[in-house]
Amino acid sequence: MVLPLASGEFAPLAPSGRPAFWAVTGRLGGVSRGPFDQANLADHVGDSLAAVMENRASLAAVVDLSSEHLVHMAPVHGSSHAFVDSGGQAGEVDALITTSDTLGLVALGADCATVGIHAWGPESGVAIAAVHCGWKGLCADVLGATLAQLRSLGATKFQAVIGPAICGGCYKVEEERIHTVTESCAPDVARAALAFAGGIDVREGLFVALTVAGIPTQIAGGCTFENSEELFSYRRNNVTGRQGLVIRIGGASA
Ligand SMILES: [Zn+2]
Repeated sequence: MVLPLASGEFAPLAPSGRPAFWAVTGRLGGVSRGPFDQANLADHVGDSLAAVMENRASLAAVVDLSSEHLVHMAPVHGSSHAFVDSGGQAGEVDALITTSDTLGLVALGADCATVGIHAWGPESGVAIAAVHCGWKGLCADVLGATLAQLRSLGATKFQAVIGPAICGGCYKVEEERIHTVTESCAPDVARAALAFAGGIDVREGLFVALTVAGIPTQIAGGCTFENSEELFSYRRNNVTGRQGLVIRIGGASA
């Protein structure tokens, strides 16, 4: 059973709204072996497919769904999204959006950040999004693009949760990347992401971007690189699994 590292319920954003339930997983609680030990959710990292499928079934159960109602994406570090109304693989995008209350949107990472968004608008009702975002995604503003898409659907109120990610102290990069972040991101986002000299902290950048947009945001889980017991880190282990964030419309017991 994939055990959530953290989970919570977003309260309805309006009297006519509905809650949304989210969970963030780490590496504990699944059936994967070796470097994917235990709760790897990715099918592209070399892990046994049977183990991944079993872990995904456990993840689905966490949000009271079956595996075929989970929606996955193949991130490409861009800013495009897929609007989905059925389960399965949504393709090469970095964000998923739905208004369906029978789907669980999944974002995976192993240093990259994951974001779950709960949105509501008077005309559109409730929508949710799951976002995958590393430093390239921060520069491509996948978060801003996803929020813009939710607003174009009619959403006016939001709340968000950010999953585990590598911190700026552990994610030292070459000068060119620092420069790209400075050039590409809004000044306050870049300042937050680059607060630790020589490193990029994507999660701090996302947190500031959400806060500046007036969106209440919580952070779940710590630095992936520092917590080898509970979290997968690509920078630490290279061959490793992926943890996940899942979000669905409905209460904790749906
Ligand atoms: Zn760290």
